[in-house]
This record gives sequence, C-alpha cells and structure tokens, in this order.
Amino acid sequence: METKLQTGLLADPFSKKHDTGPGHPECAARYDAIWKALDKAGLPARTVKLTPHAATEDDVARCHGQGYIASAKQDIANKRSQLRTGDTAIGTHSWDVAMHAVGSAMAAVDSVFEKRTRNALAVVRPPGHHANADRGMGFCIFNNVAVAARYAQHKYGVKNVLIADWDVHHGNGTQDIFYSDGSVYFFSTHQYPWYPGSGLPSESGEGAGAGRTMNCPFPAGSGMQEILGAFQHQLIPTMEQFKPELVLLSAGFDSREGDPLGRFKLTDADFAALTRLTMEIADKHAGGRLVSLLEGGYNLNGVGQAVAAHLTALAG
Ligand SMILES: [Zn+2]
Repeated sequence: METKLQTGLLADPFSKKHDTGPGHPECAARYDAIWKALDKAGLPARTVKLTPHAATEDDVARCHGQGYIASAKQDIANKRSQLRTGDTAIGTHSWDVAMHAVGSAMAAVDSVFEKRTRNALAVVRPPGHHANADRGMGFCIFNNVAVAARYAQHKYGVKNVLIADWDVHHGNGTQDIFYSDGSVYFFSTHQYPWYPGSGLPSESGEGAGAGRTMNCPFPAGSGMQEILGAFQHQLIPTMEQFKPELVLLSAGFDSREGDPLGRFKLTDADFAALTRLTMEIADKHAGGRLVSLLEGGYNLNGVGQAVAAHLTALAG
C-alpha cells in the first residue's frame, strides 16, 4: 500500500565557506569530519541526496526583525570579525552561507511534506538555536530551525510543530521566538548552569504559549539516564496532547562525551536511542515527518560518529 520512503540527507560543502577564523571550535573541519564518517558508514548511498537552495530575506523575516537582518548583512559586508550583537564569528562568505543554511532547512521540510523522503537530516553551518528575533549570538546568525517551523506552517498549512533540542546548550533563541506562540512547542534538554544561562523549568511560555515550552536542565556529568529519561517520560506523554504535525530536531552533538564545549556524557548509541524516541513521536502524530538540523558538536573525532549513529537510526 504505502511505499517505504527513504531518509533525506542534505550535506553541502558550501557551508565550509563560513570562515570563523583560526582556532574557532565552530569550524569548517566539522563538515569534513561529519562527511567522512557518513561516507565511511555508507550512508550517502543509503539516503536520498537533497539539494539546498538559498533562502530569501523574506523567509528569514518570518523569525527575525528587519533591523537585525540588516545589521547582520552590514556587519558581514563591512568585514567585521564578529556580529555586533554577540559572539558569532563571521567572514566574507558568511551571509551567503547563513542564507544557505536556512534554505537547507527549508529544503529538508519540503522533502518530507512532498513525500520525497520519510525524514531528513541537514548538516548545516552556522548553527542557529541561539539566534533570536533581534540578535545573533553563540556562533549563530539565523535560527534555522525556527525559520523551518514557520516555513512549514506557511507553506504546508500545518499548525502544531514540535522543536526538540538535545544540544548541550539551551536553545534560548528558539525559546524566545516562540515563547508566546502556542503553535510551536519547544522542548530542550541541556546542561545547567552553562552557556547561555537560560533554560530553567520555570521558563515555560507565556500568553498563548503558556505551557508550550519545556526545559529540562541537568548538571554536568549527566547522560543517558537523565536525557533519555526526559524524552521518554516528559516529552512523549506531553506530545499526546499537543499532537505535532511536524517534528523538528535541533541536533547538537556537543552533548556527546568528550566534547570540548560541554560536560554531558551521551554516547553514539544514546544518540541513536534518542533518535528512535523522536521518530516514535513523528510516526505517531506527524506521519513520520521529522527534520533534523545540525546545531553544535565540536569534538572533531566524535561528532562524525555521533551524526553517523543519528542518521543510521533515522534511516531505520
Ligand atoms: Zn551547543
């Protein structure tokens, strides 16, 4: 009856053109490390290749203010080394790469709604979950996952979207953008206290978004028991009421053991298990539609293996 759709993979070496300068953890070598591990695991042959397209400023404006978009564009054109709004290193090509990252997230959304793939992973740079409407920070320029959620609502008419975020850092930007919006549920597991300092359970949304943000902070040293437990016992039951029509994942692998920017202890097998739990939610409520976007992950020896474990699970 139903043909079994494959998993989409969007990995574009153009992302390497975002040059953050010498010694920066969010570097082009991350892309190479990930691609090498995916290739070694035979994953490109087992997945559908997705092609990115550049987003427009109107796409980005679904989540970001015109003032911020203009200032980011100007900072890059003026060859500043950092965005004026915060700790995001930029280079000559960063505007094009950032627009491409947003466009990649949108292309992955298209592939699941057009039923070309069952689910999809986009290996994007720069990451996005720290960028809010008016401010880039934490290596992020535009909030890829947030724009993807708004794009899906706009283009495909879905209402409820879940964004789950297992990056070791709190996705403050995503939380801010949807804080008073009841249609996008934001769920995050993260280290606390840690950068950027937000993400307490008491931050749970306001107005129409009240109760539609769930933060699960855990101390340094946490791992499978805490994080898988939160997905299983907090997120899954909550989604029985919310019933997302699309599941988006801010897949940060700096929550892996040995990451220089985090102190969590997730293993590659744990990422596979977390992936399967998230797929359960997508299968039950969203026709399997799950789009995963790379956020952090800075251990060049580990991030590739973690992404390979994640994609292997996505590909079933
Ligand atoms: Zn992170």
